[in-house]
Amino acid sequence: MLKNHVEDVVVWLLPKVLKEYDDICTCEKCKDDIKAIALNKLKPHYVVTKEGESYAKINDMSLQFKTDVMQALMEAANIVKENPKHSK
Ligand SMILES: [Zn+2]
Repeated sequence: MLKNHVEDVVVWLLPKVLKEYDDICTCEKCKDDIKAIALNKLKPHYVVTKEGESYAKINDMSLQFKTDVMQALMEAANIVKENPKHSK
């Protein structure tokens, strides 16, 4: 299965980033927006995976990569926080 590994990492780190914000909307729409903005900032990294393999790979990734994804997610969260795509 061909997969953008960065997408897994974004999905995995998003809840940790959202925990840092107590005033951000966490509905599916806003979470998808945050993921989309972060993924567009990051360079995709395609890997061929078998089912269930992605988490092992996350543990192997470098701290620098984790930091980059964290950074992109925080920037994206700030954008969505200021401009949610829906009314409150
Ligand atoms: Zn929302």
